[in-house]
Amino acid sequence: MNRSATVTRLGIFGGTFDPPHIGHLLAATDAAEALDLDILWFVPNATQPLKGAGQGSAADRLEMVTRLAATGGSFAVDAMEIERDGLSYTVDTVAAFAARYPSATRFLLIGADVTETFAQWREPRRIRELADLVVLHRGSSGSADWMKPGSSQPATPHLDGAQWLQTRRIDVSSTEVRERVRAGKSIRGFVPDAVAEYIAAAGLYR
Ligand code: ATP
Repeated sequence: MNRSATVTRLGIFGGTFDPPHIGHLLAATDAAEALDLDILWFVPNATQPLKGAGQGSAADRLEMVTRLAATGGSFAVDAMEIERDGLSYTVDTVAAFAARYPSATRFLLIGADVTETFAQWREPRRIRELADLVVLHRGSSGSADWMKPGSSQPATPHLDGAQWLQTRRIDVSSTEVRERVRAGKSIRGFVPDAVAEYIAAAGLYR
């Protein structure tokens, strides 16, 4: 589908999404509303080589994130990182969106928990040129308190000018969902029903 003609503001939200859960969904919804996005792209990461047993494959994660994205009108999924051969870098993903939507305002959404490693990502400066960085922080759970606006601590130059966006705090993680499945507990409400159905049908995380 060619949506590029009508898109003026887009968001890129990467993650492992193993599985995608209600925390991802509501953070994405809050960000899409706050940033007035025409479309928010979920971009599942390529499988990590050191992935442990009991985790979803790239195909599983792609299917689940597609099911999660189907719950929102302005959500979409791009599998480019999964389809790319070898290591996948955020800078390449953002560059691909810049090529596809050259005149749109592009926002890269990252969780507060990953800001501490941002400087070590490949070409952080180029990422900043290609997209506006938006840090989603969830109440007090972000581990990077010292980088929040108004903080007296020195901020890392790689994050200067990044927008901090408070999104709803939902105390749920993919780790917890996997652990609940493994323990035979219900995950109703933790993930959209269509994702729970997939996890059950595929026998994931047991
Ligand atoms: P895991 O428990 O396996 O580490 P996770 O739940 O943190 O996974 P990821 O796929 O690693 O999920 O997260 C992708 C992005 O979503 C990250 O930027 C992360 O900060 C953000 N995120 C994860 N959980 C939540 C949540 N409950 N609310 C808001 N954002 C979240």
